[in-house]
Amino acid sequence: MYNKLNDRIILKLEDIVGEKNFVLEESKLIDYSHDEFSLNEIHRTPEVVLKPANAIEISEIMKVASREKLPVVVRGGATGLCGGCVPFYGGIVISTERMNKVTDIDENNLMVTLQAGVTLKNFYSALKEKKLFFPPHPGEESATIGGVISTNAGGARAVKYGTIRNFLRGIEVVLADGTIIRPGGKLIKDSTGYSLLHLFTGSEGTLGIITEAVFSVLPEPEASITLLVPYTTAEDALSSVPFILKQPTRPLAIEFITKKIISIAEEYCGRHWPSINGEIFLMIIVDGNKDEIERYSEKTSEICMDHGAIDVFVADSNQKQEEILHVRSMVYEALKSATIEILDVVMPPNQMSSHIAFVDNLSLSHNVWLPTYGHAGDGNLHTHIMKQALDGKEIIDWKEKYKQLRKEIILDGISRGGKISGEHGIGLVKKEYLEMCLGVEYVNVLKKIKLAFDPLGILNPGKIFDL
Ligand SMILES: Cc1cc2nc3c(=O)[nH]c(=O)nc-3n(C[C@H](O)[C@H](O)[C@H](O)COP(=O)(O)OP(=O)(O)OC[C@H]3O[C@@H](n4cnc5c(N)ncnc54)[C@H](O)[C@@H]3O)c2cc1C
Repeated sequence: MYNKLNDRIILKLEDIVGEKNFVLEESKLIDYSHDEFSLNEIHRTPEVVLKPANAIEISEIMKVASREKLPVVVRGGATGLCGGCVPFYGGIVISTERMNKVTDIDENNLMVTLQAGVTLKNFYSALKEKKLFFPPHPGEESATIGGVISTNAGGARAVKYGTIRNFLRGIEVVLADGTIIRPGGKLIKDSTGYSLLHLFTGSEGTLGIITEAVFSVLPEPEASITLLVPYTTAEDALSSVPFILKQPTRPLAIEFITKKIISIAEEYCGRHWPSINGEIFLMIIVDGNKDEIERYSEKTSEICMDHGAIDVFVADSNQKQEEILHVRSMVYEALKSATIEILDVVMPPNQMSSHIAFVDNLSLSHNVWLPTYGHAGDGNLHTHIMKQALDGKEIIDWKEKYKQLRKEIILDGISRGGKISGEHGIGLVKKEYLEMCLGVEYVNVLKKIKLAFDPLGILNPGKIFDL
């Protein structure tokens, strides 16, 4: 189906990126065989890794790849959770690690231009120096700009500000045949032809290679406040959410998490969650000016208490808020060693409560621990499918149970008007559910789009769907 590299091609590729930016040793190639998805049965080693410096070099690589019919997979931070950057058919991995410059912070237009390999961490710190703010915050800051655009990453702050898509203004992309195009620009409005900008967003490296991006940014908000609200049941906690959202001020985030999960994260990182009551927490974050958020805090506390909250802990200092966020951010690491997969089913927010009840029942009937938490304000839930029983013991036949449980959880999400991914993407591991979720006709349209951009199927083959 695809060709293999030979000495002639190897020399050509080495010539494009230079000897130092060219990896051929087996022992080093293994590092590029996986992302954060846990099962090593999906790992594949590339034949070569290239570390180009810019779009021109990527264009030259793509001209070789399309002439020789070689598969090409782009790799950003490899923090993806669904095998997106795994080179399933071998071939070339393009690592964007050298494309790590914030090229322009345009304070007059409130736009930032940056290369695809800049990490979120470096992006946020470049903005902090200028007192600017990029609202989307996918949880792992070693993710890159190219990766977050290609998965349309979300994170907790999507409730008020939306996902990566909502701040993206322009990109530079190298197509499968090496052509370079620049959809969008430093523009707030743009009705000029089809929006390829939005087509590339979330396309998981299957339509083109993003080399540069322009994002809108905002001035830093004056202040923020975090409310931690304990409840006895998930139902009570989630029943508060529509009333919280009906207020004129929209919170940045409304997160839902259980006490059991938080206790494990506390133990893992050795820091404390400041609220000890209840079994379930809502974590509500609001930003804005000081008066506005104080009023908001009072009103929201009343709403929560009217809907079964036990009490409300208000974190108004930076230190208290940082403590809460730190413990919350450790959840993934704390659960990681026993996690098989983290699902990210998204559904209309009013369906979350019944979906969580469904997952809890599955957990009891199969005796598998299925910790569930997520973004209560936007309907995006993360259920971890664990190798552990409810008493914490490792399950012997976890592989069979895993397949059945993920199917049941995903189908339940779809049956509630949901979709299989709210922010992580489809990658390699969720494609078996794509047609069930979107329908055959819809997926056929996606396939035609793919073939229009990449007729040879060389860009990230085997991802999202099979051709
Ligand atoms: C602890 C943890 C927390 C997380 N929290 C969140 C969260 O809150 N919200 C969220 O949405 N995700 C979250 N994620 C998932 C992950 O961080 C995101 O999917 C992120 O967008 C991946 O970026 P990356 O640079 O690591 O991409 P990679 O994993 O390297 O690649 C992801 C996909 O993007 C493609 N790609 C990468 N760069 C380019 C490029 N330049 N051009 C074209 N395609 C490209 C790859 O081929 C692949 O298909 C989390 C992951 C972890 C481990």
